[in-house]
Amino acid sequence: MSTASMGKKSGKTSHISCRRCGSHTYHIRKLRCSSCGYGNTATKRKYNTNKKNTK
Ligand SMILES: [Zn+2]
Repeated sequence: MSTASMGKKSGKTSHISCRRCGSHTYHIRKLRCSSCGYGNTATKRKYNTNKKNTK
């Protein structure tokens, strides 16, 4: 038998393939890719510019 060097990580999968960068770094629970940042940055972003003044 081969020695299990890395061991078996049995459990839940926390990362899947990212749709944007294709890396296996998309976090399922966080809904965010740790590689390219897809998911979190696509939702809401705070801008410094106030659009309220332009009227
Ligand atoms: Zn990604």
